[in-house]
Amino acid sequence: MKVVKSAFKFKGGVHPDYNKGLANNKLIEALPMPSELVISMSQHLGAPAKCIVKPGDYVSRGQIIGERNGFISVCVRASASGLVKAVEKRLGPAGGKADAVILDTTASAPEGVEMLGDGPVLKPLDWENSSREELIARVEEAGICGMGGAGFPTSVKLNPPPGKRCEYLIINGAECEPYLCADHRVMVEKASRIRLGVEIMRKILGECAVRIAVESNKPDAIQALSEAFADISGNVEIVVLSVLYPQGSEKHQIFATVKRIVPEPPALPIDVGCVVENVSTAVAIADAVEKGEPLLERVTTVSGDAISEPKNILAPCGTKYSDLVQFCSGTKETPAKVISGGTMMGFAVPSLEIATTKTTSGILLLSSRRVFQYTSGPCINCGRCVRACPMCLNPADISKAVEANDISDAERAHVMTCIECGACSFSCPAYRTITQFCRRAKNSIRARIAAEKAKAAAAQNAAEKKEIQK
Ligand code: SF4
Ligand code: SF4
Repeated sequence: MKVVKSAFKFKGGVHPDYNKGLANNKLIEALPMPSELVISMSQHLGAPAKCIVKPGDYVSRGQIIGERNGFISVCVRASASGLVKAVEKRLGPAGGKADAVILDTTASAPEGVEMLGDGPVLKPLDWENSSREELIARVEEAGICGMGGAGFPTSVKLNPPPGKRCEYLIINGAECEPYLCADHRVMVEKASRIRLGVEIMRKILGECAVRIAVESNKPDAIQALSEAFADISGNVEIVVLSVLYPQGSEKHQIFATVKRIVPEPPALPIDVGCVVENVSTAVAIADAVEKGEPLLERVTTVSGDAISEPKNILAPCGTKYSDLVQFCSGTKETPAKVISGGTMMGFAVPSLEIATTKTTSGILLLSSRRVFQYTSGPCINCGRCVRACPMCLNPADISKAVEANDISDAERAHVMTCIECGACSFSCPAYRTITQFCRRAKNSIRARIAAEKAKAAAAQNAAEKKEIQK
């Protein structure tokens, strides 16, 4: 196993203030079980899970409470035993509302109802003697999705369609978002679990090269991984990346590690022979297979200058932000902004009643000194956003098109390839909300495509009906 420096630099990118020093040396601490969990059915990319419990039900830790609801979907399991108090729509970390199970974890089950307790939920598997189908099924039943932020169902990613082969398994440990260090701590403290996850994925994907990508500002993580992977067989390298945002983006990581370019959507990394998985996802796979533990908890960084004690906390999925903040000894001052995720791609949230999901890598509480008040002005054609854009787009043109309500023009300017990284808004001296313009255009284009598909399907149904009636 070699440690090499990345020889490839993508175009664009920016250097925001990383502010990782607040929490990157803090050991992961386990949160005592909160008295109430809010477990969302929409913790992943794709169709939300279908809730199968109702108020008054007692559920066991690990029991399925939301069934997988389509090909791009994952199941949701109860992060703790308890009583279902309610099933209702709740606001999630990214702003949308979804069904959530409100669980009272202090209620004990009535006599005769057996609870699973804290032992393994699934039967541990001997991975070396399990088939790839058994391992994929385990990843699926454990409810694992990408834990780096996107939440793509992992069992789908690990099962490439016929004719596609994984040549490179890339393990994403870049964590380039400011403040966040959950993955950093996982690499330092759970490097041997990452290795096991990698070996299981290699068995699923077939013989492939492995590249573990880590930014150079995490020397202790590089050291821990080097030791854990020292005697691994096969073509495995740790690739040290330069510190540059958005180095953790899937497409940019593929370029920085193996110099391959993923074409425009709907192309996927597997189209260029790559599968990218986050370091925490690798640990979740190891735990699901070897210990029989589904994905019920994750490490979340709680940081920012308004929090009393920044921490990295292992907490059940469905933990309310207020419980995490309390565990950090509360706030030093009233935060001016609470952000779910990092400062570049995260979402400002209106309250601490929002709960974590499988993809919540961090929450930030920022004081008014860190929250810049600005008024967005007209474009001065300085070109800084064009230089910053890692997708080689012209963000200025796109923002002007959306401002003028000309979504077709934004589409012609390839807005659908925008990864919403925020590098353009970060660079703009006129404080234009370019990323929000891109997001608005993408949502509008997606809605139009969905409406066109629905119209075509309805026309086809009507034609088939007519044919049958003949
Ligand atoms: S948000 Fe989109 S347009 Fe802006 S820099 Fe990132 S990829 Fe480019
Ligand atoms: S950075 Fe802002 S002001 Fe400069 S070209 Fe881009 S949108 Fe216009």
